[in-house]
Amino acid sequence: MGLEENRELLIKKLAGEGYLKTEKVIGAFREIPREKFIPERDGDFAYSDYPLNIGRGQTISAPHMVAIMTELLKPKSRDIVLEIGAGSGYQAAILSKLVDTVYTIELESELAVSAKQNLEKAGCGNVHVMVGDGSKGYPPKAPYDKIIVTCATPEIFRAWKDQLKPGGIILAPVGGFYHQDLIMVKKTGDGFKEENHGGVMFVPLRQG
Ligand code: SAH
Repeated sequence: MGLEENRELLIKKLAGEGYLKTEKVIGAFREIPREKFIPERDGDFAYSDYPLNIGRGQTISAPHMVAIMTELLKPKSRDIVLEIGAGSGYQAAILSKLVDTVYTIELESELAVSAKQNLEKAGCGNVHVMVGDGSKGYPPKAPYDKIIVTCATPEIFRAWKDQLKPGGIILAPVGGFYHQDLIMVKKTGDGFKEENHGGVMFVPLRQG
């Protein structure tokens, strides 16, 4: 079976399981070739629903995790989004089809280089990859409508809250090494409101 057929089957499965919910997000999954974001040797697994190694001890998240996070972000066409943990660039690529601009910051310079290449191959011109420690956010382009954290963080850092627009949201796996809760923080008129969206498992955030 060809890659496109496999992609369509995965989309059907993720929609059937309730992870993909909206036509817009399904459209983004159709447009982005996941095979361009994984090592060539793993090509056969591009549309299997699990994480894959991308080097430097890091992983590209499983498709259902990308679906869950993308749907929860409720992406809007005018949104400016900051991602912490570019990894392969796949999550940023999916978002790039749904929002105005994505800034994604990666601690490992080697991975930032390959993310940039992957995003170019996939034709995602509205994603900007930066190298740095995302626990400090990325002040030059703040404030953001949404901040998505794709590495396990011990806390929602003050810098993220400060770099969020009023009404904006942060989505982050918060917790220890083996288990985190997917926490959504909303910036309201008079502070911040937190929601827990259940258990997840991500590779850890490291502070540079
Ligand atoms: N979103 C990625 C998956 C990310 S894996 C994808 O779609 O492929 C988590 C990534 O976070 C790893 O690449 C890791 O190097 C990076 N990371 C860890 N700590 C970080 C930090 N402080 N700032 C930025 N990136 C960090």
